Amino acid sequence: MTTVTTVKELKVLLADARSEGRSVGLVPTMGALHAGHASLVRRSVSENDVTVVSIFLNPTQFNDKGDLERYPRTVEADCALLQSLGTTIVFTPTVAEVYPVPDTRVFSYSPTDTVMEGAYRPGHFNGVCQVVSKLFDMVEPDRAYFGEKDFQQIAVIRRMVADLSYNIQIVPCPVVREESGLAMSSRNTLLSADERATAAAIYRTLERSRAFASSHSVAETRDYVVRNINSVAGLEVQYFSIVDGDTLADVASWDDAPSVVGCITVFCGATPIRLIDHIRYR
Ligand code: AMP
Repeated sequence: MTTVTTVKELKVLLADARSEGRSVGLVPTMGALHAGHASLVRRSVSENDVTVVSIFLNPTQFNDKGDLERYPRTVEADCALLQSLGTTIVFTPTVAEVYPVPDTRVFSYSPTDTVMEGAYRPGHFNGVCQVVSKLFDMVEPDRAYFGEKDFQQIAVIRRMVADLSYNIQIVPCPVVREESGLAMSSRNTLLSADERATAAAIYRTLERSRAFASSHSVAETRDYVVRNINSVAGLEVQYFSIVDGDTLADVASWDDAPSVVGCITVFCGATPIRLIDHIRYR
């Protein structure tokens, strides 16, 4: 495994690989790696000759500066994990390396990037598109791996890939969960043990709502989830939207779209920490 910090070094390594006809997989991350990230890396290592993992805490996607400051940073442990997984190249650029000049590009993929996370974190997906497009241009991967944990992010990136005609296969990877069902997230380390146990009610409720949904309407199911999660001390739903899994537009009935997904964001604990999850209804 080679660790590089500059685009120049990265391009030299990748030019060598490409001249030998080797395929390249990219796994973009913000570090504080856990088993969810590891599943993406394993998948890339199994499907490509070369796997590039970027660790870059991208400031342009944080609309809340406190969230950026609190974000856990564990680069040494991250690199040890990546080495054990068979990663070829770790790319850990500075902010100045990624943004030598301010990025003024505007990406606009309404409604995909304006609903849910887009509505509650203004500018978030613009920052995601800025950094992911830069990583795509720097690495020019054959495949790029993203977790379904960030369900909306994948939909936005698919729109960007279509818009900018990237010849890159987007590979969605299933959510990796803790034993309690809580979706793994770098932000979980900011929760106390008690808060972590409390947060397990999010997915437990989403799972139960699947059975509830089979005999109730979309509106009733939405109320069921919000009511049950809000009844747990220490949890507060920011939004729960039941949407078309492709366009992310709200659905009024279960038959409105071939794929229907419930996307939720919940505040947990004293700080509070923002946790996201989703469930597929059909
Ligand atoms: P992040 O470091 O949070 O930007 O995440 C980097 C990538 O890992 C994104 O594509 C995430 O969706 C993915 N990821 C994060 N947590 C999980 C998880 N629990 N299961 C699967 N993928 C995940």
